[in-house]
Parts: sequence; C-alpha cells; structure tokens
Amino acid sequence: MVKKKSNKRRKNWKKFWKLGVDEFNTQYFDVTKEGELIVQEGNYVYNLNDIVKKYGSPTEIVFPFILEERLEDLQDYFQAFMKIQGYKGKFYYHYPMKVNQNKEFIMPLISEGAHMEVGSVNELWIVKKLWEGEKFNSKLRVLCNGPKTDAYIGLIEELKNKGLSIIPVIEDEHELNKLHKTYKGDVGIRVNLDTKADTHWDKKIDRFGFTAKELLELPKMKNLKLLHYHIGSQIMTSGSVIKPIGEAMDLYIKLVKTHPNLDTLDIGGGFGVPYEKKPFYNAKEVSEKIIRLLKKISDEAGVRHPNLVVEWGRYIVAPAQITIYNIIAEKPIPKGNAKSWYVIDGSFMNDLLDTWAIHQKWHIVPVNNASTNALKSVWLAGSSCDSDDKYTAGGNYILMPKLKDGENQYFAVFDSGAYQDALASHHCLLSSPAKLIAQDGTIKIARKRETADSIGKLFGWNGDHR
Ligand SMILES: *Cc1c(COP(=O)(O)O)cnc(C)c1O
Repeated sequence: MVKKKSNKRRKNWKKFWKLGVDEFNTQYFDVTKEGELIVQEGNYVYNLNDIVKKYGSPTEIVFPFILEERLEDLQDYFQAFMKIQGYKGKFYYHYPMKVNQNKEFIMPLISEGAHMEVGSVNELWIVKKLWEGEKFNSKLRVLCNGPKTDAYIGLIEELKNKGLSIIPVIEDEHELNKLHKTYKGDVGIRVNLDTKADTHWDKKIDRFGFTAKELLELPKMKNLKLLHYHIGSQIMTSGSVIKPIGEAMDLYIKLVKTHPNLDTLDIGGGFGVPYEKKPFYNAKEVSEKIIRLLKKISDEAGVRHPNLVVEWGRYIVAPAQITIYNIIAEKPIPKGNAKSWYVIDGSFMNDLLDTWAIHQKWHIVPVNNASTNALKSVWLAGSSCDSDDKYTAGGNYILMPKLKDGENQYFAVFDSGAYQDALASHHCLLSSPAKLIAQDGTIKIARKRETADSIGKLFGWNGDHR
C-alpha cells in the first residue's frame, strides 16, 4: 500500500501577512517557522517576540536604518533622473519636523543629508540647539512655514544673523507686511493652488497661502527665492501628486519675470504610504515624472530649470516605526462583522490618535503565533474607558490568532512613525508606550514607559498630592 502524502502544505505566512514586499515597505519583515515576527537589518535579525517579552508592552520600536534607506533612495531617484534628463536645477530634501520631532528620527535624517522644514518657533528652537551644538554643518538649509508669531520671526532673524541658511515662507498678507518691511534675507512665498488633491484634507477650507492672482499682483521682491505649495497629506494617487506641479509651474514662470531671484519650486509634502498594503504609486516612478514635467515646462517657457524642494514627511518616516501591544481580554461581539473584541494593553485614541481623528487604517500582524490556522476575526479595543477607543478596520475586521490560555498574544501595528507621537494624549491617564531603538543589532531604550507619577506631574500632581 502506498502511504498517502500529507496534502497539508505549509502556508506561506510571510505572504499571508503581506510581509517581504518592497512596494508595501514590509521588505524587512518576515515570520519564523515558530510564527514569530522578525525584522532584518542587513544580516542582523531582530526577533520582535523576544524583544517585547524582554522590554514589555506596549512599546514602539524605531528602526533608524529604515529611515536612512528611504531617504537615501529618494535622493538617489531625484538626482539620477535629473542627471539622465539633463536637468540643471538642484534637488533638496527638507524634512518636515512636525511629522516626527523625536531625536531618534531627526539625527539619522540629518546624517543622510536632510535639510529641515519647521512649522513653529519651538521646532525652530530645536534646530537652533542643534546648530549651537554644532550637530550639523552650514550647508544645512532651513525652511520656516506655519504662522509667524513675533517670537518665531525673532528667532528666524537671530539664526539668519548667526549665518544659518534659513528662509521664512510668507503665507499671508499679515506676514508679508511684517517680513517685507524689515526682513533682509531670502524669503519664500506660499500659493494656495486651485487644484484639489485626492486626500483627507478638505481644500475648500484651506486657509494657507495666497491665491495665484494675489501673488501676480505683488510688487517686485528682490529677495523672493522660493515658491511653495502644500496641497495635503497622504495623497492617494500619483496624478494628484503631479498635477499641482503643472499649475504651480505656470505661476512660477510668470513670477520669475517680476522677481528675478526666484529660483526654487517647493512642492511641499503629501506623498502617501500604502498603509492598507494594497497597490500604490511609488517614489521612483513619480520622481521621474516630476523631473520630466519640470524640464518640459521650463524649457518651453525658456526659463532656467528651478531647484526642486520636496518635503515628503510621512513617506520617509511612517514605515520606520511599529507599535506593539498585548491582548489582555476577549469579549464576544453579539452582532458585527467580527466575532470578538480583543482588548489591548494600550490605547488607539492615545497612542495612535489618527485612528480616532481621521479613521486611519493600519496594517496589523501578530508578533507571535503568526503561523497558525486558528485565526479569528476581531475588533481591537483600547484600554481607555472611552467607547471611541477602538480599531475596527473601518467596520470590517482584523484577523488575529485565537487566544491561548496562559500565553500572551502580541501584535504589531505597522507604519506608526508619522504624526502619532506629537498627537499622542493621556486620556484616562494611560501611559504612553515605551520607545525602543533597534540599530546595529542592539536595542536601546529611548523612552521608558510612563509611570503614574510622571503622568500625574503633567497634570500638576507634584510630589505629595495635597
Ligand atoms: C505637514 C507638512 C508637510 C509634510 O506632509 P506629509 O504629508 O507628511 O508629507 C510638508 N510641508 C508642509 C508645509 C507641511 O505643513
């Protein structure tokens, strides 16, 4: 008798969880035979299950090598396409600080050659501290967006006078009056384009920038260097990234005639991230199209190829951090698209606030038991006492291993590196996750998990609680 071959083939769990895919930014991730989620930095391997068992949960893990690789690739694309197409302008990447101001993000980006874009006096103050500490050289350029308070303008002037290469971007009439009269350095100006991009941002209520018509009526400004627009965040199609460039270039060509030193187009941020791990546009294809378009329009108009500034923040930093939670309880869902609530040891509302604010969708993968067929459709509940503290994948469901008695079940939320930290809050006085840095094969603690005492202090409970 012939033995029956087992027809139970091992499932490809890496593929099942959409790991190892360049276009999803998961090329560094894999699942071991034991079903544990791992990350590979070159030949180093980080076992996330071991790490979270050792350091506890909830925890965020930052991967500086991912940041560095992403920025390096982006700069390479633009520089290569400029060279191939004979483009004469220069490429500058400015990192928009508001996307993530953590030191563990900023320092690797500066080391890869990022320039900075700041949106407030306090962000600029961090740049000042770095400058004074000689943490970067004088080639680093700083763009200043956001409403210009007196303190902000004061600091801009101070740093300009100290020799920092800094450009305030004028966003309205009020700033124009303030800066035009007294400020002697280079300035930029922001246009509020008519184009609507495919993003969460409702352009009808955009309040930043001048209309094209207003800009064309400005008197000659010898110190006008840069035309800037920023059209939204997490733009969903490559067409929406590229189309506004044409509109901005039409304006640029007209403005150059009046303002002879204008030489830079700053296309702001907005490049998206495939959070949902579905097909998405990519930076290589888009950067080629951008350079082609800029060259074509400026050649046809007979103007010099403008220098190009890109401020894509989310694109660079979102995939460089994950957030890991443990599941602390299960509750049945009587009626819904999922079978159970899994209650987590942290909070979507606090730690991943965009879940609540803009219904952000996340890619979620078990950290252990990721190679089991015993899966369940669940919704995730944060452990604040707020019914809005939940993640249901938009009313759909999340697949998770069935819970086993006496065993922790951890899971990772991917792409948590953009915006979530500065928006994080303390609803119900829950502690923020710990923050770990995984670099060169070692784990460092960047921020310990908050204690009751340290959170209490934020609310004025100092010491003896009287
Ligand atoms: C927020 C912001 C950015 C970054 O946007 P992303 O969508 O993260 O790329 C860039 N420039 C300006 C002016 C911004 O306000």
